[in-house]
Amino acid sequence: MDIEKLKAQVSDEIDARRQQLTELSLRIHSNPELGFQEVKAAAWLAQYLEENGFSMEQGICELATAFRGSYGQGKPAIAILAEYDALPSLGHACGHNLIAACAVGAGIASKPAIDQFGGTILVIGTPAEELYGGKAIMADRGAFDNLDIAMMVHPGVYDTATTQSLACLALKVEFFGKAAHAAARPEAGINALEAMLNSFTAINSLRQHIKDNARIHGIITDGGEAANIVPAHSAGSFLVRAEDDTYLDELKQRVINCFIGAATASGARLEYSWGEIRYAPLRNNPTLAQLFSHNMQSLGRKVQLSDASKAFGSTDMGNVSQVVPCIHPSVAIAPVEVLTHSPQFASAAASEAGIHGLLDAAKALTMTVVDLVANPELVINVKEEFRQNR
Ligand SMILES: [Zn+2]
Ligand SMILES: [Zn+2]
Repeated sequence: MDIEKLKAQVSDEIDARRQQLTELSLRIHSNPELGFQEVKAAAWLAQYLEENGFSMEQGICELATAFRGSYGQGKPAIAILAEYDALPSLGHACGHNLIAACAVGAGIASKPAIDQFGGTILVIGTPAEELYGGKAIMADRGAFDNLDIAMMVHPGVYDTATTQSLACLALKVEFFGKAAHAAARPEAGINALEAMLNSFTAINSLRQHIKDNARIHGIITDGGEAANIVPAHSAGSFLVRAEDDTYLDELKQRVINCFIGAATASGARLEYSWGEIRYAPLRNNPTLAQLFSHNMQSLGRKVQLSDASKAFGSTDMGNVSQVVPCIHPSVAIAPVEVLTHSPQFASAAASEAGIHGLLDAAKALTMTVVDLVANPELVINVKEEFRQNR
């Protein structure tokens, strides 16, 4: 059978499952679960894969809501990754319900290609993308070590084959001062809130003199108890992001210097701790991006190969891309003015356009699997690029 015919067949396979995939996606959407609590979503996805001939392992990497489904055997081993966690208060405002249904749909529709050419298709369930970097933990625990390729598609407002995503590290900061009556004995107090405010001022100044794509942003989580008490304690939560790990390391010290300066000026004592999970920058594999882009265009979508000006934030797919060749394209499900992590995006993730995006992304992923299993030299190219770009 020629490859174009096989692509048409797998694409029809997705269309035939339209109702099931829509229902699965909407069910996850209306039952939002936060990171590492995605018990229902993980069970529904695993059950659907199992019913469709995948052998399942649940609770992999010592994470209860992570799973691995596989079909076929041997090389190449190609994984489609699923995310299914929601956001606090906003529900599925990042559209991970669509990623989940897209991944299982693409995995199942890839079966005829695996039957014909050999290899293994895997669907790996990766919990807690938003808050805890589930894939970073899974990468450390070897979940992606034996793969040749890993792919997923994230909903957004553009159709792109690559994504720019920044290295990112969380920072928790506390200042300890001394309480006093704010009017009667202000001279006896040490103001921990002022130390925090001065830290923000110093960071705002620093921001003028850092590289364009770096980001430093934070919130105050404790700013005192009452207006008539000099705040003895303040606390804040920050994220520091940069285009690469080297610059992130440089920024770390410059950011800490802002807090040290504020501590010195106020007399408050500083304590801080960096987060354990470090999001790595995303390495897009050019060959995979070309194949995906071509397949997406065959569905009538205009796909930009890359646009560095459209920074994405950070994703734990970056950590996966450090150990295995990856793509993390975006599929448009809403007009450009709709912001991800907003109530409008949560609505889009359950809309007709959202389902259309899910199905197109699943088709393009499956067609890319067809390209890869049918042309072993492409897999060699992909892996060679990965080695060279290290
Ligand atoms: Zn997301
Ligand atoms: Zn998100």
